[in-house]
Amino acid sequence: MTAAPQTRLLIIGPPGAGKGTQASRIVERFGVPWISTGDIFRANIKAGTPLGQRVSQLIEAGKLVPDELTNEIVEDRLRHEDVSSGFLLDGYPRTVDQVHALDRVLESDARALDAVVLLEVDTDEVVARLLKRAEIEGRVDDTEEVIRHRQQVYAEQTQPLVELFGDRGILIAVDGLGSVDDVSDRIFAALDAKLEPKTAA
Ligand code: ADP
Repeated sequence: MTAAPQTRLLIIGPPGAGKGTQASRIVERFGVPWISTGDIFRANIKAGTPLGQRVSQLIEAGKLVPDELTNEIVEDRLRHEDVSSGFLLDGYPRTVDQVHALDRVLESDARALDAVVLLEVDTDEVVARLLKRAEIEGRVDDTEEVIRHRQQVYAEQTQPLVELFGDRGILIAVDGLGSVDDVSDRIFAALDAKLEPKTAA
């Protein structure tokens, strides 16, 4: 027993499920860094870096950034010193190949995910939310057509991860409908129940 206890979490759910809002609460409570691939890409686009230039059109169209590139970015990020307390991944992995890439990175370090929070909301609700957010934030990938495309990409590429993590016994499905506080209360209760045996050991 040398390493300090870590909490390695992942949050997934369809675009517009409220992942970002809940992610900010989870990282505050668990004191772990928040790793959002969407934020990393947007920051690079804003700063006009080579990475930003490479991904901007894909993101504007609601398409996924290629796995290879995304995997490399996350692998780099997971080498930073601050993940010694664990981490919350938000928006990654998003494809089965990304799950395998993440497995390899974590295995090489004798780490594994402790829990995966799935935020469940129905499609009509999330499309309505995203259109509202588009008015407020003006995100380039929040037009109706792109939103629908992102939902489709989620259904095709990311939905299979639900079963995969379910089979591993680390999935926590949380109803994402209700107030922000209601949803985070549900998440914390479920996470505490899931992580408790580990902390007690
Ligand atoms: P949302 O959860 O609202 O879909 P994100 O901020 O997570 O938004 O992602 C925005 C966009 O960034 C995605 O539509 C995609 O183009 C790109 N992206 C983010 N994460 C990944 C990933 N893991 N793999 C590929 N592309 C990604």
